[in-house]
Parts: sequence; structure tokens; C-alpha cells
Amino acid sequence: MPAAERNADDANLMYRLLVQGVTDYAIYMLDPQGLITNWNAGAERAKGYRAEEIVGRHFSCFYDAAERGRGVPHLGLETARREGRFEAEGWRLRKDGTRFWAHVVIDAIHDDAARLVGFAKITRDCTERRLQAAQLEETSANLDLALSHMSQGLCLLDAQRRLLLCNGRFREILGLAPALTRRGTSVVAMLRRLAREERADPGEPGPRQRRLARLAGTATHRTDVAFRGRVIAITTRALPAGGWVSTVEDVTDRHRIEGRILHMAHHDALTGLPNRTAFGAHLERALSVGGEIAVLCLDLDRFKAVNDTFGHAAGDALLRTVAERLRAVLCGSGMIARLGGDEFVIALDGPQGGHRVEALAERIIEAVGQSIDIDGHLADVGVSIGVAIGPRDGADPDTLFRNADIALYRAKAAGRNGYRFYEAGMAAAAAARTLLQLELREAVQSGGFRLHYQPVMDLRRGTISGFEALLRWPHPRRGLISPADFVPMAEETGLITRLGAWVLREACLEAAEWRADIRVAVNVSAVQFARGGLEEVVTLALAVSGLAPQRLELEITETVLMSDGEAALACLHRLRALGVRIALDDFGTGYSSLSYLRLFPFDRIKIDRSFIREIGRPENAAIVRAVRALASDLGALVTAEGIETDEQLAFVRRLDCEEGQGFLFSPARPPAAIPALLSGARWTAAQAA
Ligand code: C2E
Ligand code: CA
Ligand code: CA
Repeated sequence: MPAAERNADDANLMYRLLVQGVTDYAIYMLDPQGLITNWNAGAERAKGYRAEEIVGRHFSCFYDAAERGRGVPHLGLETARREGRFEAEGWRLRKDGTRFWAHVVIDAIHDDAARLVGFAKITRDCTERRLQAAQLEETSANLDLALSHMSQGLCLLDAQRRLLLCNGRFREILGLAPALTRRGTSVVAMLRRLAREERADPGEPGPRQRRLARLAGTATHRTDVAFRGRVIAITTRALPAGGWVSTVEDVTDRHRIEGRILHMAHHDALTGLPNRTAFGAHLERALSVGGEIAVLCLDLDRFKAVNDTFGHAAGDALLRTVAERLRAVLCGSGMIARLGGDEFVIALDGPQGGHRVEALAERIIEAVGQSIDIDGHLADVGVSIGVAIGPRDGADPDTLFRNADIALYRAKAAGRNGYRFYEAGMAAAAAARTLLQLELREAVQSGGFRLHYQPVMDLRRGTISGFEALLRWPHPRRGLISPADFVPMAEETGLITRLGAWVLREACLEAAEWRADIRVAVNVSAVQFARGGLEEVVTLALAVSGLAPQRLELEITETVLMSDGEAALACLHRLRALGVRIALDDFGTGYSSLSYLRLFPFDRIKIDRSFIREIGRPENAAIVRAVRALASDLGALVTAEGIETDEQLAFVRRLDCEEGQGFLFSPARPPAAIPALLSGARWTAAQAA
């Protein structure tokens, strides 16, 4: 065999071995019409046909019916025929009908005379890659979707700080035109452009742009930047692979809300003044720095009355006005806070000498004391002030504040519209008060009170016409405590409601045991009116005791009519309708007693003992005479209180007072003493003379 021929045979053999041996590729030959003439092992494996089965069939059997219908196999061959090679990817069928993704190359084969002798077709199963690519596509589509829906703006920069990608929010937040954020844009150029725009905006200077630029260069950085009237949070992080990722977020609203919450946490909603928390912090700071600081505790007088009379909206308006006036008085020189209700507090830093605080307190009292117009009604409130000066009166906020509060309590006790400085010893007194308060509560709960009864004399006949019930508190350590010492406390704490109800029931039960012509007088506090329930308490006491309503007399003072006049008057009228008598107690001690006399048809007027004590003085005698005359006009009886001497008795008799009460006849005695008092000798005119 000639060498050339043997070589050709060898090459042919090598070629066959190679083609047959290759299993990753399906290689087969087609004749010019597309009939399969040769088939390698790879093709067997890929398509599931053995060579004997397939050789002689048309290669279009690997395409599905639809593709055959569209002439796809034919087109491939035509292209290869025309151009020498055809390359494509597509789904192909295996023998068992399953599909695989094939990369196909068809080469046209020509003989030496350039005639087409057939085609070599190489097919590779790329299903795996195809699926991976599909997955990748899906992932990246999802990622795109996620990025475009992020509330944060995001951008990726390469190591040269050129933009790789950014989402829509990024452009939106920074107000960038799409042209400015094309891939490859230099961030520096972008920021420069922004800075130009920024400078063109008169309200917004440019230095923040430098900050923005700096940010884009650092490793990891987070900062809030004011930008076109908004607050943008920018976080920039270096990526391990080089480059940066930046997120930008518009936190304007969050900032605003945080700011508002912070403000709310430290301010009183009604007046806009700092609140207790803010005040405490201020005090803490001032004390820790050293130096003097004055704390003024303020409490409005008669605020409750305004609130009850005009309603809560009016009360709120009043508090706002007071806050305004305080601001005006302080005019920035200290801190005013509202602690709640009608309590305000002021801190005045700096040296407190030279009557500085006194002057301030007086200005405050003056300012708050001016009538306040509420919807056309003039309301008058006053203010009491307690002052403590740190660090002398307290080196820590709590002590200082508590001592100012103790001084306030003293100021209030001394009367309205006053101020008091804290003095050593006040704290101990306050502690004692607190203890007494506890004991009072305990006594109210356990029924630790007694009633004593003081006779009321019919001065004309010299006989007892009734008794006034007077509270007694037998205290284990202090002996009998006078109601003058604990009734105000019971009023402040609200304990008077329970205590007063007990007094009424007890007095009625006791009086029901007496002769039917003897009445009982019971003192009723203004608080019992204000808190309501008095009518029910009276009705119940009468019902339980069976006492005739005409035998019960309620003694009220003009404070009842002062706080909430309308409601109290209505209540008084209803009580009167029950048959109960109403007396005006302590007449003459208030300032406007005479005007109150005309408000309600009182059954009795009790002239305060301060008049009787010095009845010898002409003006006192004149007043008693005037009251006597007015009372007859109004159809009321007059009782003189505190008659201690025969002289006083003779005087009130001459002035024609119907009844009298006093130590001259008898002090208040326990119930057991009553029968003896009732059967005792008469007081005659002769005795008195
Ligand atoms: P008040 O209603 O003016 O009662 C008369 C007070 O004068 C009584 O004092 C009585 O003991 C005292 N007194 C009577 N005669 C004389 C006298 O000749 N000379 C002097 N110097 N004093 C005389 P008391 O019992 O200490 O009561 C003081 C105040 O406590 C009462 O003044 C009344 O306002 C209040 N109070 C007493 N009991 C009650 C009560 O049950 N409820 C309420 N809400 N207040 C009460
Ligand atoms: Ca009384
Ligand atoms: Ca009295």
C-alpha cells in the first residue's frame, strides 16, 4: 500500500476512533438530504438511540413537531449549505421523548471537487448550563425588582469610585437625573454637579457636598446630612472585593418624629413649658456645676374653683395664660416648668443675693394676680410661692425641690398670694405633718373619733334649744386634738368626706335619743359640698336615725358659696326642701359676709366669737346690731358664739340675739353628759344680770 494511501487510512482510522470515543459530544454525519449516515457513542448517549436504530433516518426526528412544522431543521441545513456552518441552541428530543438543551454546530462537508457530500453535526447537551443561566436570570430579575422597590437608595462604586449601578430610589433621594447616574459616571463628577446645583439654591450652602464627597471615599461611614431641606442618612461601606456600596435614606420624617417625641418627653403639652423630667435634669445639671440656684414652687390659689365653675377648657386657657405671664416675668432669666395641675416651678441660676428672689416672687404674684379674661368672664386666681435655695437648702435636686415645696405649703397656710423661704426646721415640721396625716387616715378608717356636744341656749327663756356637735380626736400620744388642727388636713386629703358622713350619722343617731324639741347642729365643710354626695349622706343619716329633718341644722361657712356658688346654692336649696335648717357659721370673719347673706335664705346666722370677745368696743356692737337688724329683715335667727362672761351675755341680750353659745353656759361635753345638762337649772335673766 503506498505511503500516502496508508497515511490516509490511518488518518481515517484515527478520526473514527476519535469520533467514536468522544462521548461528551454527540457527533453524527448527515447526507446532503439530512439522513443520518454515521452516529457516535456520544450521540448514542445523548439521544438514547443506538446506531443501528438511527442510521438512515432523517435528523429532524430530534426536533419536536412544532419546530418541524416551522421548518427549523431544514433551515439549519440550508444555512450550513450556504455559509458552510450553522450554529444554534435549542431544545431537542431524546428517544424517550424527554428534552434537553443542545448547542448545535452543523458543518457542511465538500469533496475535492467542492461538491456537497453531507454534513457533520456536533451537538452538546447544555441543559445544566441552560438551567443555571435561567436561574441566574431569575435571581437577577428578582434582585432588580428588590432594588427598585427598596426604600433606601443604593449604589455600587468600583475601586475608582465610578458608578456601577444604582437604583431608582438613589436617584430620587438625591434628585439626580438619570443621565447623571449612568454606569461609569465618576462619583466625584456627580457630586460636583450636585454641589453646583446646591450653590445655585440660595437657602442651601455647599459645604455638605464636600462631606458627601468625603463619605464616598472612607471605609465605612454613616452620617446624616442636611440636603435640600431634608435629612439624608448615608452609609458607605468598602467592599472586600474593592469598590464601595453606599445606601442613602431619607430620614427627615423619622428625625422630625424623634424630635417631636423628644420634645414631648420633656415638655408639657398644654403650655409648652418644660415638664418635671426636664426640670429635674436642669436642676441636676445646675447643682453639679456648683454655684447657687433658687427653686420657686408655685401653686395657684382658687384654681380649682375656676375649673369647677367655668369648666376644664376654661381651666386650660387659664393655665396657658398663667404660663405666658410667668414667661413674661422671667423673660428668659430662668427655667419655668409645669409639673401638672396648677403647679409650676421656676429655677433661677446664679448668685441669689440682693433680694433678687424676693423681687421676682413679688413680680410673679403681681402678674398672676391680674384678672384673667376667659370667654368674657373675669377669673381671679392668685399664686403662693415657696422658695428654697441650693445648695444651702438642699444639695441634690430632690431635697432642694422638696424643701421648696415645704416652704410653699407654709406660704399657702399663711394665706393667699404670699411667698415663703424655706427655713431649717420646716422639714421636720412637714415630716410631723405627714405622720399626723397617716394617723388621721388610720383614725378615719378605724372610727377613732368622738362627738362632743355644746349646748345652744335660748337667751330669752334661758333654756337649751339644741346642741352643736363638735368633733374630737382622742390621740394616743397627744391627747384630745382640736378639730381646728385636723379638719383642714382632712379637707386637703379628702378624708373629710368620710369623716363628715360619720359625723352626720352619729349626730343624728344621738339627737334621736333626745327630747323632740331639742335640735342638733352639725358643721359641714365646703369640701363635702364640692365632692358631692352630701344630700345622700344627709338623707341616709335622717333615715337611719329616724330624726325629724327639722331638728337637723347644717352649719356652713361662706367658703361653701365662694368656690362653686351655683352648684352649692342648688344643693342648699334641695337640702332645705328636705326640711333641714341651714345656718351661716362664723359670720363676720370673711370679707364679704354681708353679700353672702343675700344669696340664700339662711335660717340662722352665727356671729363669730371674735366680735363677742370685744363686744364692749363700739364698732363691734354696731356691727352686731346691724347684723341683728338685717337678720330680722331676712327672717333669720341670730346666735352669738363664744359667750364667756356675764357681761358678754348681758350685751348680746341687749342686742336682742335669740340664742347664745359659750363656755359661760358649757363647753362641748360627751354624750353621756347631755341628760344632766338638759335637766339642769335654767339660765334666767336674773342670773345673767
Ligand atoms: P366652730 O364651728 O366655730 O365651733 C365652735 C368652736 O368654738 C368649738 O371649737 C368650740 O369648742 C369653741 N367654743 C365654744 N364656746 C367657746 C367659748 O366660749 N370660748 C371659746 N374661746 N371657744 C368656744 P372646736 O370644737 O375646737 O371646733 C373648732 C372648729 O372646728 C369649729 O368651729 C368648726 O369649724 C370645726 N369643726 C368642729 N367639728 C366639726 C365637724 O364635725 N365637721 C367640720 N367640718 N368641722 C368641724
Ligand atoms: Ca360651728
Ligand atoms: Ca363658729
